[in-house]
Amino acid sequence: MRKGPKPRLAILGGGPIGLEAGLYAKKLDLPFTIFERGRVGEHLWRWGHVRMFSPFGMNSTPLGRAVVERSKAVATLPAEDALLTGREHIAAYLGPLAETLQSNIQTETVVLKVSRRGLLKTDSAADRGKRPFRLLVRDKNKERIEEADIVLDCTGTYAQHRWLGDGGIPAVGELQAEPHIAYGLEDILGERKAHYANKTTLVVGTGYSAATTVCNLAQLAPDNQATWAIWLGRDPSSTPLPRIANDPLRERDRLAVRANNLATRDDDNVEYHGGYVVEAVEFLGPDKGFRVAARSADKVRVWEVDRVIGNVGYTPDTNLYRELQVHESYTTLGPMNLASALAAQRRRDGLPPTCRDAETLRNPEPNFYILGAKSYGRNSNFLLRVGFEQIRDVFALIMDDAKLDLYQSR
Ligand SMILES: Cc1cc2nc3c(=O)[nH]c(=O)nc-3n(C[C@H](O)[C@H](O)[C@H](O)COP(=O)(O)OP(=O)(O)OC[C@H]3O[C@@H](n4cnc5c(N)ncnc54)[C@H](O)[C@@H]3O)c2cc1C
Repeated sequence: MRKGPKPRLAILGGGPIGLEAGLYAKKLDLPFTIFERGRVGEHLWRWGHVRMFSPFGMNSTPLGRAVVERSKAVATLPAEDALLTGREHIAAYLGPLAETLQSNIQTETVVLKVSRRGLLKTDSAADRGKRPFRLLVRDKNKERIEEADIVLDCTGTYAQHRWLGDGGIPAVGELQAEPHIAYGLEDILGERKAHYANKTTLVVGTGYSAATTVCNLAQLAPDNQATWAIWLGRDPSSTPLPRIANDPLRERDRLAVRANNLATRDDDNVEYHGGYVVEAVEFLGPDKGFRVAARSADKVRVWEVDRVIGNVGYTPDTNLYRELQVHESYTTLGPMNLASALAAQRRRDGLPPTCRDAETLRNPEPNFYILGAKSYGRNSNFLLRVGFEQIRDVFALIMDDAKLDLYQSR
């Protein structure tokens, strides 16, 4: 490490990857702050009833497990092969980690924008690394500016849903109906049961989130016979979920099989319609439900339903760094270098493509790194294991740059 002051890190987001970054910063004795908009693990809290399909051993790291064991916050760590729900993962792992990082975490604190002191987006790239980052931060209702030499953007994607309409833009009426549509993973068998039992729900999307939703609605049906799911997918094939050959994540494959069975059998309270795109959504008023129009080829069908769930994916918040020089992928909205490296790969083992060339994590904007789920942009293949590798790689870059005395922003 160089002789001058150590670089200050701002870690945006206190999810699993932001926390792992905090553990590394602490271990390397670098000054750091984790800014978290909500609670630690906020997005996991929101889908916390869902059972993760990768085992605990893949969702934790040796460093994190050692920290939790030392903290004695939990009697024993879960087994490596344990499949935990999001909430169980917070209780067993993220919560205890957060306690050890407590003095460096600011919860209920949102980072609104990031820029460089004295530089606009259009200003020369040459000296940008010599100016500190300026972060516009808001806690409770007070705004302030924080400075940092290195920014790790680990803000995830779960809070920004995509839209139901054809071509990815809102369907006609969807903007008005948005507050009444559920776009995340609803706790259909738990706290939201009364909302969905004996109702007709239209579900849009053919990913694992939609599969989870439809399977849960089907599970509700035997005891609540009037529960019905109308499931729409864009692809015309009769089975909505493509199966990954020899998927090493067995729970994920089981989910795909269960959902595809529901879509193709006609003895459950689920009807699947492939090849449909949503044209219009009208919210008819409280307790009156929705009218949804969808098109397949030139045929338009209209459904009147009680509930609408749009499980159509998530997208990164790129507004956060509009004033920085970030090269975005035109397909995924993730950082370009990484997106290109990932696109060049075809893995056959069912695990997501990864890239261990640390240099691909760099952006034209020096010392600004997009990591974790957000680094994959709209590519939904991300797994925590990939994010943990990124953290190891990025701290190797940070320490190498420190040896070259590249952090001269003060
Ligand atoms: C239902 C579901 C199940 C999944 N199951 C698995 C699985 O089994 N195995 C697996 O490996 N992966 C799984 N994933 C994928 C992925 O690992 C998770 O999405 C994981 O939470 C990503 O971690 P992260 O730290 O990158 O981002 P997140 O967990 O999304 O954390 C981002 C954090 O940043 C905060 N934040 C956002 N914006 C701001 C801001 N402007 N300022 C401050 N804070 C901000 C958020 O509140 C949040 O706490 C799953 C995803 C979903 C949605």
